[in-house]
Amino acid sequence: MTYFLHRAPSILLHAARASMAPGSPAGGAPASAGPADPNLIEDLVAANRILADQGVLDGYGHVSVRHPRNSERYLLSRSLAPELVTAGDIMEFDLDSNPVDQRGRTMYLERFIHGEIYKARPEVNAVVHSHSPAVVPFSVSSIALKPIYHMSAFLHRGVPVFEIREAAGMTDLLVRDPQLGRALARSLGDKPVALMRGHGNVTVGSSIPFAVYYAIYTEVNARLQLQAIGLGGSINYVAPEEGKLYEPNIAGTISRPWELWKKKALGK
Ligand SMILES: [Zn+2]
Repeated sequence: MTYFLHRAPSILLHAARASMAPGSPAGGAPASAGPADPNLIEDLVAANRILADQGVLDGYGHVSVRHPRNSERYLLSRSLAPELVTAGDIMEFDLDSNPVDQRGRTMYLERFIHGEIYKARPEVNAVVHSHSPAVVPFSVSSIALKPIYHMSAFLHRGVPVFEIREAAGMTDLLVRDPQLGRALARSLGDKPVALMRGHGNVTVGSSIPFAVYYAIYTEVNARLQLQAIGLGGSINYVAPEEGKLYEPNIAGTISRPWELWKKKALGK
């Protein structure tokens, strides 16, 4: 009886959901912002492959871009391993993460990460969610992820850890609804990176290359920091003031690694 009482609401919820087209808002599918620039789609496809190539994404994780014609829409692949993503797999969503034109395609369960961050951060135009492996230990340890070298100077702004238990108690750890997406966006605050306890991380940027750069160098920094910790002794991290002084160099040179990564990833 206790079991039935506990289960009944979720059974009813599933029944209610099943009566609507999957993923559709009550008023029907949101309107499209229209076609995006093919160069932007190419960059989004490249970002998927670059992040797979660099060991940040594997069969899981995703990267999105805000639609340049309508800030209330974003573009994200259908549910697919990032290395396999092509232009034809890119779907359009509103910021509640409803698809504009689902056509039976399976969607990423955790797409709410993207929609809710775009709502909270108007200056953010690209979002990466990954389970990049070297970063995960810092999501569960009392040792904070800190900048080890200049390339990851952006970490000087601080790296919050999203504790999903504080937001929703015991869960399967996935950001599978808008409420959890909002809680994650609140944890991220105004930072470029947030860790997700026992799960992964999210990086955001003003463009695809920035979000990708932050995702790659968060992973590299974590590897180097683990090595430095392994040496024993104390660690002399990049000071916040040094981080602040270095950051403009990232903006000044980001096209160099981006062009290389893109060429390698799309040339495969
Ligand atoms: Zn995830």
